[in-house]
Amino acid sequence: MRPGTPLTLETFLDIVHPGDRKFVENTWRQALQGGPYDIEHRIVVSGVVKWVKERAEIEFDLQDRPVSALGTVQDITERKEAENRIRYLAYYDSLTGLPNRQSFMERLERELGRAKHQGYRLGVLFLDLDGFKSINDTLGHNVGDLILQWAAERMKYGIRPSDVLSRPGQDEEPEPEADLARLGGDEFTVLLPRIQQPEDALVVAHRVRDLMHRPFVIEGKELVLTASIGIAIFPDDGQDGADLLKNADTAMYHAKDEGRDNCQFYSASLTTRAMQRMSMETNLRLALDRREFSLHYQPQVDATDGRIHALEALIRWRHPQLGTIPPADFIPLAEEIGLIIPIGEWVLRTACADAATWRREDRPPVRVAVNLSPLQFKDPNLVKVVLGILHESGLPADLLELEITEGALMEDTDRTLATLDALNQAGVHIALDDFGTGYSSLSYLKRMPLSRLKVDRSFVRELPEASEDEAIVRAIIAMAGSLNFRVTAEGVETPNQAEHLLRLGCDSLQGYHFCTPRQPEEIPGLLDRIWVTQQPGDQTA
Ligand code: C2E
Ligand code: CA
Ligand code: CA
Repeated sequence: MRPGTPLTLETFLDIVHPGDRKFVENTWRQALQGGPYDIEHRIVVSGVVKWVKERAEIEFDLQDRPVSALGTVQDITERKEAENRIRYLAYYDSLTGLPNRQSFMERLERELGRAKHQGYRLGVLFLDLDGFKSINDTLGHNVGDLILQWAAERMKYGIRPSDVLSRPGQDEEPEPEADLARLGGDEFTVLLPRIQQPEDALVVAHRVRDLMHRPFVIEGKELVLTASIGIAIFPDDGQDGADLLKNADTAMYHAKDEGRDNCQFYSASLTTRAMQRMSMETNLRLALDRREFSLHYQPQVDATDGRIHALEALIRWRHPQLGTIPPADFIPLAEEIGLIIPIGEWVLRTACADAATWRREDRPPVRVAVNLSPLQFKDPNLVKVVLGILHESGLPADLLELEITEGALMEDTDRTLATLDALNQAGVHIALDDFGTGYSSLSYLKRMPLSRLKVDRSFVRELPEASEDEAIVRAIIAMAGSLNFRVTAEGVETPNQAEHLLRLGCDSLQGYHFCTPRQPEEIPGLLDRIWVTQQPGDQTA
């Protein structure tokens, strides 16, 4: 064939197998060694693509250069198409066009390997339509098939990647596709190849379940179908694909037992946890609008004159059913779902407005201290927001102190410094909260325009007995002195602790021994109070 054409790898490639270079290169290498070679490839014959099997031999010229290939070509189109059909049947479900069990298991094992390697969680949902058998029995298999196809379409829609699963700041990589498969009958599975937490799988499961609720219309009659969904999570519920699928199946039966039309995790504790978390998340999203937050204020008492020099604003969340939820239980969730930004802004605005109403000419000014989450500190709008709120409340910048943690400072030094400088220039004070629990170095702190270190409660708790704690507090005070920062001790609960901390040289004290956090209405009554901070016989008194 093709007599007289000078042959090269490129022309060979063009002729036989565009798109599969490696395969062609191998055949070419073999062909160059002389002797017959076989290759199957596509050609276009009068506009129709045909598969051919070519058995040929390369002919060489006198200088041993390949010049042409000579052989026979056989049309194998029918055989190829049959093979493709078989491959399709082996991997796909012909009714819905979805991947079948075999192909699902292969993808599951592949994704499990990746999840193990990269330390991700992975979710397997097992879905079973409720009461499908009776549809088949009463309406016939044709209707049953149609419903399975419709259900599959809805599920596909329900598992699309969406903003539900990508949480701000955590996941820069695009989300891998979820995979829907039909195992057979009315059983479907969904693979969620990369999730942050079990609740993410529940979100998808609920979405699919809710989509099923919409009626199917068959011959003018509405038919409502529900699904029971079981969820297994890697690594919590199993290490390999077979186990995960089996456990998701078990969980699905559990969902049926619970009255169908619901979703269950394989492990019961995950179900409760996820439910609590989801309802907490829903409630938290509504809390601002429903005005469920309030602020309490805790005095910081000046060591020299026993007066309140600052009030720390501490957020409180009161939910009508759940009761009072402490900040330690909802701030981390608010940070995770990005709600800390609006919540933090509300705290700032409220604290500044309250502080502005407490000012009086005849009394030394009292500062308000506001806790900032590291996420707020990283927010490029922070300085603008703070200055805007100060302006609108009429509170002088000098009466606002922002409490940030060491963790917030450690990231991205240049940006941190720029933010701190801008706030400092405006007159706002910065305190380093929970000090001593992080890893700030002296050289690092030296560059920061800070006003105050707040000695973490853990170093105060066991004073005066614990000598290591005392040594740490002593070191913090010495360091703060040399850097010109003031020092406040937190969590002072006993007179003994207070006395000891004063002797070590703390500038101010905060804790239940002096005053618990109080509602704003109580604050004006506290502002003229003077606490005993000097020891009897102390010459400076
Ligand atoms: P924090 O900034 O270290 O606040 C001090 C915590 O210690 C407060 O707990 C306070 O009620 C408690 N406390 C005060 N005196 C004593 C004492 O003598 N003994 C003991 N055992 N505890 C004392 P709270 O109000 O539950 O707040 C916990 C944490 O939640 C705060 O720790 C702070 O990190 C965070 N937080 C509170 N309000 C806000 C806020 O508005 N925004 C942000 N981002 N975080 C906040
Ligand atoms: Ca604080
Ligand atoms: Ca603290």
